[in-house]
Amino acid sequence: MKRTLIIGAGGVGSVVAHKCAALPEVFGDLMLASRTRSKCDRIAAEIGKSHVTTAAVDADVVPQLVALMKDFKPTLCINVALPYQDLTIMEACLQCGVHYLDTANYEPKDVAKFEYHWQWAYHDRFADAGLMALLGCGFDPGVTGVFTAYAAKHHLDELHYLDIVDCNAGDHGKAFATNFNPEINIREITQKGRYFESGRWVETEPLSVHQPIDYPGVGPKDSYLLYHEELESLVKNFPTLRRARFWMTFGQQYLTHLRVLENVGMTSIAPIQFQGQSIVPLEFLKAVLPEPSSLGAGYQGQTSIGCHIRGLKDGQTKHYYVWNNCDHAEVYREIGAQAVSYTTGVPAMIGAKMMMEGTWSGKGVFNVEEFNPDPFMKDLGLYGLPWHEVVDGPSPFDDYGSHA
Ligand code: NDP
Repeated sequence: MKRTLIIGAGGVGSVVAHKCAALPEVFGDLMLASRTRSKCDRIAAEIGKSHVTTAAVDADVVPQLVALMKDFKPTLCINVALPYQDLTIMEACLQCGVHYLDTANYEPKDVAKFEYHWQWAYHDRFADAGLMALLGCGFDPGVTGVFTAYAAKHHLDELHYLDIVDCNAGDHGKAFATNFNPEINIREITQKGRYFESGRWVETEPLSVHQPIDYPGVGPKDSYLLYHEELESLVKNFPTLRRARFWMTFGQQYLTHLRVLENVGMTSIAPIQFQGQSIVPLEFLKAVLPEPSSLGAGYQGQTSIGCHIRGLKDGQTKHYYVWNNCDHAEVYREIGAQAVSYTTGVPAMIGAKMMMEGTWSGKGVFNVEEFNPDPFMKDLGLYGLPWHEVVDGPSPFDDYGSHA
């Protein structure tokens, strides 16, 4: 009997639960577990299916996770809580013989540093246990890795230049809100930028490098160079890459709020004393900001995320662009979500489906680009994220140098 455990009942957890519940033949009985059980219950009530049950769990505590897994006996655990819980959930999966999937790599709570090495270090233990762990299976990371693997399989003999471009042209009507967990989001974008070039990492000051990029169906938007975690695995798995960068759009209103919050110390992760208690300013800020799952109602506009890839095909330079646009209002009508949660949750469900059906299988810890992209690309269209491609169209970048 197949069973699937989903941990995390936020914006992404809700999408994963809705999408998995619609495929009982793939996922079997579902349990949605999170720190606050009432949030799981609310999602289960929306889904309204008797094969979906809920539980409370503190995923920072391995014995609690082990007790839950021993009781429910899942085949697979989909981790859509926070990156802080990746290692404890992987540890519990190993103790209970459960396969593992997540959408964001591990990050220690006291240092804003997200890297794969902590999770890659679990490879041998998962392999020895005959288990599979699939890392970073949201949109970015996730679909961006699958898009890159698809380009390498079908369009290019050698990948040279990768630019991942992520635009949210939506408007949720709030003065300031983040589209996924505020703590993780703000930690990510206030860090130094970083990109890979000629075999080494180049650092830039936070949000200091930007340029307009034209997004299909959206138009030109100022886009900022950021470090993003999939760059680390993609340059490892596609060693012909000469340069790999990540760009994301931000509106001026968002950036102004962020600058003020940073200037007054509200984005700091160093604990301070407040009324006799130790608190972390960023955790307090998260508590007063809107929850990502609450942004869907009235959200207008689209996201557009894709990969511009340049390389060689039959000795000739070729440019390949592949992307998905997702409409906030449409996904709200479908399952009450906003597009950032949806574009993360749908690929997590598809990756989990690949594992449950054995389409993607292996023993150890893997990133998505290590598997055959074709069945995943097919499912993207089927489950709500149709994609488009242009071969040898114009590139928004004019800095390919003499290699272009
Ligand atoms: P939310 O803040 O909306 O939800 C997080 C959920 O995790 C909440 O239900 C929260 O519980 C739960 N949680 C937090 N700590 C614990 C814990 N110790 N034990 C059990 N449950 C816990 O975030 P999102 O849904 O927006 O994001 C979820 C994940 O998806 C994040 O890791 C994020 O980085 C990732 N993500 C990945 C993307 C991609 O494309 N790859 C894009 C966007 C997000 P409570 O409600 O009690 O706080």
